[in-house]
Amino acid sequence: MKLRLTYTPENVGEPILSKLILAKGLEINIIEARISGDRGTMIVDVPLRRDELEGVLGFLKDRGVEVEEIAFAIELDEGKCIYCGACVSPCPVQAIRMEGPRDIRIDQDRCVRCLICVNACPMRAIRAV
Ligand code: SF4
Ligand code: SF4
Repeated sequence: MKLRLTYTPENVGEPILSKLILAKGLEINIIEARISGDRGTMIVDVPLRRDELEGVLGFLKDRGVEVEEIAFAIELDEGKCIYCGACVSPCPVQAIRMEGPRDIRIDQDRCVRCLICVNACPMRAIRAV
């Protein structure tokens, strides 16, 4: 399950994720981290069962971290795509790539749902579903 964590000036310097890992025994994969000044966002992949989610959300919220589950997928409409490749290079995690002149692939596991490709497409051929 992918989660977007948003840190505030009050908690951005604290090792909250490390404490969560220790407290819950989780293996957390940090996919993307952006810290700018006194704020930060992080996208993490956490191998959580649904019944474990509430405890993790509570742990983070108690420490002032906003948490949002990233549940949607990114879909390509091949009927609209002109295979220009404009969506490929803006992807921050190389989740969308051209495999051939008329072959665009999206790796849903790698995708962090930032929607950059959606906005980069001149044909509106990519959407969140
Ligand atoms: S939403 Fe698009 S640009 Fe963002 S990570 Fe997923 S494939 Fe890449
Ligand atoms: S930017 Fe849009 S039209 Fe161009 S390759 Fe990507 S999905 Fe297709």
